Amino acid sequence: SAPVIAPADTLARRDAHVAAAQEHYYSRPPQIERGWREHLIDTEAQTYVDVVNNVTIAGHAHPGIVDAAARQWTLLNTNSRFHYAAIAELSERLAALAPAGLDRVFLVNSGSEAVDLALRLAFTATGRGRILAAREAYHGWTIGSDAVSTSIGDNPRALETRPDWVELLDAPNPVRGTYRGRGSAAAYLADVDARLDALGADGRAQFAGVVIEPIFGNGGGVLLPDGYLAGLYERVRALGGVCISDEVQVGYGRLGAHFWGFEQQGAVPDVIAVAKAMGNGQPLGAVITTAAIAEAFEQEGSFFSSAGGSPVSARVGVAVLDALRDDDLQGNAQRVGALFGDALRALGTRHPSIGAVHGMGLYLGVELVVDADLTPAPELARRVCDLLLDDGCIVQPTGDHKNVLKIKPPLCITAESVAWVVAALDRALAAA
Ligand code: PMP
Repeated sequence: SAPVIAPADTLARRDAHVAAAQEHYYSRPPQIERGWREHLIDTEAQTYVDVVNNVTIAGHAHPGIVDAAARQWTLLNTNSRFHYAAIAELSERLAALAPAGLDRVFLVNSGSEAVDLALRLAFTATGRGRILAAREAYHGWTIGSDAVSTSIGDNPRALETRPDWVELLDAPNPVRGTYRGRGSAAAYLADVDARLDALGADGRAQFAGVVIEPIFGNGGGVLLPDGYLAGLYERVRALGGVCISDEVQVGYGRLGAHFWGFEQQGAVPDVIAVAKAMGNGQPLGAVITTAAIAEAFEQEGSFFSSAGGSPVSARVGVAVLDALRDDDLQGNAQRVGALFGDALRALGTRHPSIGAVHGMGLYLGVELVVDADLTPAPELARRVCDLLLDDGCIVQPTGDHKNVLKIKPPLCITAESVAWVVAALDRALAAA
């Protein structure tokens, strides 16, 4: 068996050669050796409840997914230009999960690639090149997906450095945004109208569409004001634009009541970008769209991603969808997520530093504040995360102010683990 390596040693080796921009959680992170369901175990035999992991949707080391990957590796793994059953099965399953009319699938390796390709589809479908993107969003690291990423939590200079083909929308955050309350959609949509007017006739003639998360994942699971997404899509379509829903974080059953985030808003996009959960950690993403949009892209040439939807990735993708169905993960997200949200809100009545609890299902955010004006408390968030790590819970802050604890555990998390996490957060908030 592999020797146990002291964390300080591997951390120094990692820091020597992994570019510093490729961050790790925590300044002194535990070295994680293995995982099981929602639990992680480090090389010093400490166990943690993993509440930050929206990639391993079905849980760590899920037996069905492990078997599917191992078996496929023994049979075949190659590029996606060969014909094999798994690519057909996965695409068919994704098309069946998407709204009617969205039945063409492109398989890629990551969320960044999915968003990048979705943007290219909008460009080719419209023959235009200007995109609307909301503030406080993260969509990826490739040139295209980074261009529409506006989160100053991830990139402090994001707002000044967007390319000129990206138009910024106010973040429709009904909790701490310009307009507040679930009924603030009309005010935010008036802002959209003003931005579209400001484009002028020439700008509108160059307008290709919008990319937005249907729930602000990067903001910590903040729900958009009711009716905002439908109103936004209506305005985009009136100008001939394409509506892209970035479901990389919030989609795929995590919301419990809904498989896709846009369903929560009662809106239907033209293009869905999805990744993370799709592979339970295997690099896998997809873009799902209409025949018309896919065919417009085909006019421009072919699409080829060597490992996107490879035999192993596609087999894993099918196994993840089997796990979602057989383990009733979306149902668990709804039931256990409701318990989690209620318990966090109850904690908020005792800890004034909890300014809001965002989200639904198993995408929740605990917003830590200094006062009733919602002044962000990033230092408190950091201390709470460190205390929780010592106690055995892995969680991280997110958002433009880095003051929202993002709670997005594997969807198999049990009510017992949730109760333990809430008690640990209670202890941390009392001690921080
Ligand atoms: N979109 C959203 C909403 C994301 O949260 C992320 C990753 N955090 C991405 C896209 C990019 O995905 P990836 O890291 O797989 O490239």
